[in-house]
Amino acid sequence: MSLNSNLEDVKKRIAQAALRAGRLPEDITLIAVSKTKPVSMISEIYEAGVRDFGENKVQEITAKSPVLPEDIRWHMIGHLQRNKVKQVIDRACLIHSVDSMRLAVQISEEAKKKEITVPVLLEVNIAGEESKYGFTAEETAHFLPDIASLGGITVRGLMTSAPFVDDPEENREYFRRMKQLCVDLKAQNIDNTNMDYLSMGMTNDFEVAVEEGATHVRVGTAIFGEREYNL
Ligand SMILES: *Cc1c(COP(=O)(O)O)cnc(C)c1O
Repeated sequence: MSLNSNLEDVKKRIAQAALRAGRLPEDITLIAVSKTKPVSMISEIYEAGVRDFGENKVQEITAKSPVLPEDIRWHMIGHLQRNKVKQVIDRACLIHSVDSMRLAVQISEEAKKKEITVPVLLEVNIAGEESKYGFTAEETAHFLPDIASLGGITVRGLMTSAPFVDDPEENREYFRRMKQLCVDLKAQNIDNTNMDYLSMGMTNDFEVAVEEGATHVRVGTAIFGEREYNL
């Protein structure tokens, strides 16, 4: 299959999932996760109309963004080390992976120096997986007002990576909890928060995520093919 037909297939599946849930397909942003993939493949997907790309390493954003069109919106979706914050805050359109108070403080400090406001999502480890970064649901509620009040940051919503499972239905309950958490936090009307973005759903489970309210899905393998990490 060509990248283009992969992309068309993913877009169709997103649209169908949206319609099943009574949602508008255009209300869901597809982020093409291009980590480990070369500029040539990104260009191909760009030519097909995609403008949102996701990377999990600062190095990849700083290497790829200067040689690709300026209207690409780069999403930082991976764990972010505090010493790399400076390099990425004015290159990424959205940082999905704020997973600690210390990281939020660092983003705030660097943003203030640059006199910018950085849109972020709080990462939630909704299944409580040992191996994953992110706040628990309780911590998210606890830290949100503090993070939102730091300055230089606006919290647009929440992000999660659900467990890797054979049957995506197993993740439906987690996606539901994420949506409910987002709704509950939005109802608190905290300054410098919007809580209108819900970033969830990957190759294995994006349709279920869309049915449960995802506004951003992060899809890599289904578009670009399997990743080769030992190159
Ligand atoms: C790699 C990655 C994805 C995409 O995963 P696929 O299964 O290839 O679609 C999404 N989100 C995050 C945070 C990732 O690191």
